[in-house]
Amino acid sequence: MYTCADCTVVACGRGEREKLPKNCPMREEEKMEELFKRYAEPENHAFFVQSAAVEGEGYGEWPRLRETMELCRKMGYQKIGLAFCKGLHREAKIVASLLRREGFEVVSVICKTGGFWKESAGIPREAQIDPQAREVMCNPIAQAEFLNGQNTEFNIELGLCVGHDSLFYKYSRALVTTLVAKDRALANNPCGAIYCAEGYCKERLSLTDTSDRRR
Ligand code: SF4
Repeated sequence: MYTCADCTVVACGRGEREKLPKNCPMREEEKMEELFKRYAEPENHAFFVQSAAVEGEGYGEWPRLRETMELCRKMGYQKIGLAFCKGLHREAKIVASLLRREGFEVVSVICKTGGFWKESAGIPREAQIDPQAREVMCNPIAQAEFLNGQNTEFNIELGLCVGHDSLFYKYSRALVTTLVAKDRALANNPCGAIYCAEGYCKERLSLTDTSDRRR
């Protein structure tokens, strides 16, 4: 089992191969070398090199949105997909207009497309936000497939729910980057919970917390 998150050496970051911990993935040299070769494969090489170039050029200066646009430009993408959450409709409109201003063509698909009721997909009423209401389900598979149908060259994911984002990644044919990671409780700043894990968020981060309105 690999435990990089708990590593105190982080020798990888300095290329110090003689100081690797016992369970370091780098000890599996053959596998590591094989995987390294994949960056040279045509489908990965330019994308990987240009991603690094964006990191280097805008380091600490460019917001993620700028980095995303820079990557699209460096890769020569013209047609960009935008899969967004209805709760961030206004933000999606701004992102789409900024992309268009920079010369990109934008295809956007909202999460509620299809308009299917949650219950029709087997989601029980008690699992809804409001069990008394009829709620429309999110439809990340359709978001991905409709963008696939438009042959988008790169997709931006903006604020999809946890899990819905996973299905979008699964079905998107084009590579995806996440512009916004949704966090309804923390103004879309999941790091807030990490920074406050021992403080304000401590109880809310526990799976045994009983403050949830349904428990
Ligand atoms: S790759 Fe090895 S050295 Fe780097 S963090 Fe993981 S265990 Fe530590």
